[in-house]
Amino acid sequence: MKNIYSNILKFNKKNLSKTLKYLRRSNIVGLPTETVYGLAGNAYSSKSVKKIYNLKKRPRINPLIIHYYDLTKLYNDVEINETFLKLYKYFCPGPITFIMKKKKSSKISKLACANLKTVGVRFPNNKITRKILKRIDFPLAMPSANKANAVSPVTASDVADEFGKDIKIIIDGRKSKIGIESTVLDLNKKPNILRPGVISREKIEKILKKRIMNSNINKNIKSPGMFKKHYSPNIPMILNKKKVSKNHAFITFGKRYKKSINTYNLSENSNLYEAARNLYKLFRKIKKMNYKKIYVAKIPNKGIGVAINDRLKRAAGKK
Ligand code: AMP
Ligand code: MG
Repeated sequence: MKNIYSNILKFNKKNLSKTLKYLRRSNIVGLPTETVYGLAGNAYSSKSVKKIYNLKKRPRINPLIIHYYDLTKLYNDVEINETFLKLYKYFCPGPITFIMKKKKSSKISKLACANLKTVGVRFPNNKITRKILKRIDFPLAMPSANKANAVSPVTASDVADEFGKDIKIIIDGRKSKIGIESTVLDLNKKPNILRPGVISREKIEKILKKRIMNSNINKNIKSPGMFKKHYSPNIPMILNKKKVSKNHAFITFGKRYKKSINTYNLSENSNLYEAARNLYKLFRKIKKMNYKKIYVAKIPNKGIGVAINDRLKRAAGKK
């Protein structure tokens, strides 16, 4: 029977070849990654890339992350340096994006990089998407599969909720394991974190054996993920609250908050990984419940907590 989710497909041989055919013809598909679901198209085809911007209603000054299977094809497109190789060896495939210099000879669509001289590069760690990347001879431009500034999707049905039948193929890869977007690390000059993620500053510093900077002190907006009002459920959100009236939703963390019908706990065990995984699912759930305001309890600002607080502040329009 056809339903509104008839574009969600199981990953099997038949649907793999359908997806490959689709991508080779410059069409767009929804794919799972370990961070969030992505809207994927051929990064070498400006036709595909235009479709992505149009579907997302994304401003064309906001570049897309380009996804590769491994280093083999990367050498054609970007200037690779030692710092990158050290981090690649340790973290990839994984939830980290590197900003690097684009080669003059690169075939990546200019639009995908918003005409910048740099490229954002990632190697996603999801079996399905890696199988697809291995079989195509172009990298995938793949931003998160949501309308610009909205909450990122963490399941195939979230993607269907965002785009309905405007995309014909969404591959079901269950709930994203990490649940928030990749760490974005600028390697074009001195290493600098433009967007925090589960690969924390401390972890990167340990591998590089040196201190690195954080984006928020950087005045130039290099990564539009740094814009105000990103990742937003579009309901007023108030942070660092201890309690809340019954009319509002209350997002909590840990055991110290009283359970009630309007409380939504990110992680009763105070586990920041679990909290990250639950964050966007809760945003969507609360939005569907028609609450007028969301209050949020304090989340520890250490390690992954830095990334969670970053998304909360942006959702609240405070950053
Ligand atoms: P999303 O499209 O939601 O996965 O977010 C991608 C993030 O990576 C956005 O914040 C982009 O601005 C950022 N990004 C991608 N490419 C570049 C680049 N060349 N320079 C700076 N930021 C980039
Ligand atoms: Mg996004």
